[in-house]
Amino acid sequence: YKEIHLINRPEGTPTNEDFAFVDKEIPSLGTDELLLKTLYLSVDPYMRGRMKDVKSYIAPYQLNEAITGGILAEVIESKSDRFQKGDIVTANLAWAEYNTAKADSVQKVDPAIAPITTRLGILGLTGLTAYFGLLDIGQPKEGETVVVSGAAGAVGSVVGQIAKLKGARAVGIAGSDEKVDYLINELGFAAAVNYKKDSFNEDLKNALPDGVDVYFDNVGGPVSDAVIWELNNKARVVLCGTISSYNTPGEDIGPRIQWKFITTSSMMKGFTLGDYAHDFKTGAVDLGKWLQEGKLKYEETIIEGFEKTPEAFFGLFEGSNLGKQLVKVADP
Ligand code: NDP
Repeated sequence: YKEIHLINRPEGTPTNEDFAFVDKEIPSLGTDELLLKTLYLSVDPYMRGRMKDVKSYIAPYQLNEAITGGILAEVIESKSDRFQKGDIVTANLAWAEYNTAKADSVQKVDPAIAPITTRLGILGLTGLTAYFGLLDIGQPKEGETVVVSGAAGAVGSVVGQIAKLKGARAVGIAGSDEKVDYLINELGFAAAVNYKKDSFNEDLKNALPDGVDVYFDNVGGPVSDAVIWELNNKARVVLCGTISSYNTPGEDIGPRIQWKFITTSSMMKGFTLGDYAHDFKTGAVDLGKWLQEGKLKYEETIIEGFEKTPEAFFGLFEGSNLGKQLVKVADP
């Protein structure tokens, strides 16, 4: 079977030359181990950070070793009495057609609750990122305005909907008119603007007659500069991601408009989802309930074929995904 290795640390935008498809043999299983056939895998922007050799909240990928990430898999063989052949599980494992894993490193997925792919998206780390970042740091209140960038992506689309559930006015920023249309007409955002248009600053201002109380930032860069300009008094800025600079080599520069935080007594706080690991259950229960009640919608963009994994990953930086980007590797 094939496994994808990182063979170069990308300078700038990653390319096919940075990855290799390596042949592997299925090993025999040890005690408590499972043989897993990958059904779907998740490609995520944070993985770009792990391709750099820098100290961060999570270790860098090693050269000539497998890239790891969220996997949804079927148990093909089990040496554990907790799992049976045919069970569906999720885990953090190699970008590979097969994996072996210790039984205690995987979680069972119940296909009766929701389509299994939701465990890599709205009912998985993506949904939890939106949930904790918005509710714990953003703390939106009824009638407030919540702006989210990367709004039509996996995390952003959930943020806007939770904001709405809390009685706030959700305003999205995304990179195409189709995405803007999706946010307003499918997800019920109060307004949405396309940051790629020349009129972006003007359009944003028009969408924010009452300013900004919460800004959930997935992208950083000029988009965020424009939003921060509109902060209200005591606004909360949730720093979730800065995808606009993930492929840009060179030194990071600080926020250019600190004064806006001073003059509005606002705060800006970063987080990584791991901060909330102790509370994942609460988040998962709420998200599951809202999904079942029809209060949350989600979209998935699924590319078929393990060999298309790098392409799916590159697409994140071009905005080719609506909602959660997944790769379908095999049928159950
Ligand atoms: P998305 O599904 O949002 O995919 C990425 C999206 O980013 C694209 O669809 C694209 O949409 C947008 N984008 C790409 N390049 C740019 C750019 N230069 N400027 C503005 N937008 C851009 O991915 P996720 O939902 O998985 O992740 C969203 C963010 O959240 C990322 O920054 C990620 O790193 C971060 N994150 C942080 C976590 C944490 O614990 N702090 C956990 C999970 C994710 P468009 O068409 O609109 O440009």
